[in-house]
Amino acid sequence: MKGFLGVDVGSVSTNIVVLDESGQLLAESYLRTSGRPIEVVQEGIYDIGQELAGEVEIAAAGTTGSARYLTSMIVGADVVKNEITCHAVAASKVVPGVRTIIEIGGQDSKIIILRHGVVTDFAMNTVCAAGTGSFLDQQASRLLIPIEEFGNYALKSKNPVRIAGRCAVFAESDMIHKQQLGYNTEDIIAGLCEALVRNYMNNVGKGKEILEPIIFQGGVAANAGLVQAFNSYLNTEVIVPPHYGVMGAIGAALLAQEAYAKKGRTNFKGFSLRDIEFVTTSFECKGCSNACEVVQFFQNGELIARWGDRCGKWELQTA
Ligand code: SF4
Repeated sequence: MKGFLGVDVGSVSTNIVVLDESGQLLAESYLRTSGRPIEVVQEGIYDIGQELAGEVEIAAAGTTGSARYLTSMIVGADVVKNEITCHAVAASKVVPGVRTIIEIGGQDSKIIILRHGVVTDFAMNTVCAAGTGSFLDQQASRLLIPIEEFGNYALKSKNPVRIAGRCAVFAESDMIHKQQLGYNTEDIIAGLCEALVRNYMNNVGKGKEILEPIIFQGGVAANAGLVQAFNSYLNTEVIVPPHYGVMGAIGAALLAQEAYAKKGRTNFKGFSLRDIEFVTTSFECKGCSNACEVVQFFQNGELIARWGDRCGKWELQTA
């Protein structure tokens, strides 16, 4: 059977999926990047290969996420695309005609506006931590509640408390203040969810025309409290797709399938990536005052790529 591999490597998580020719998910994996993107991709792809037990032949591979170029060299990708495009492609597959995508991941959040299947506008927040998965993880562990249960606490609330959500520091100190005033945990968590939605709408969503259908995806979409808070703020029902946490990887796999339809061959290096030694080194170029940090990428001792030089001086002629 033919399969299409999608890999999304961000600073917090590494998501890997394999789709079949009809776009159905054959395998998925969600791993912590833990500052080791090369090893995590190697091990993740090896494990997916084991899971598929030789029944799937990868016809094409796509990469996305902040480490998409590095990842493309590790796996031998046929297509490399930014997260906005990949999230939009995946969301359009699940809900054809989707017009708004709310995406909240571990470290950042985005809004993507589509009209007639085309991205017409987007915004990203990579600065404010409030509302991201990492912030919710922190608050859940501070309250000694498993993150999986966090949203359910919010659903039990009868009177959400107003929490200041303008930034993560305010939100945390206001939560502590409300705890000291004796409010119950359910109402504080529900209040936090409402504050995070207000924060998102006033920052990332500011000035955007938010029209239905609206998809809510990214790891934070697992939080039922946030889903409810978005529904109530937007006065509609947001759609959480079945594989909300790996939509970027799904988009990369769908784009890989398109690339395969055009090229009919793949650069994929195989599931046994663990056996290949990848090493990166860097040096500072002293060619001019830009002092670029040039990164070199080696596969089994052979230099296969360089990047980071603004003028192209260190570009590999053979690449
Ligand atoms: S790589 Fe080019 S732009 Fe960068 S420091 Fe060297 S000479 Fe200057």
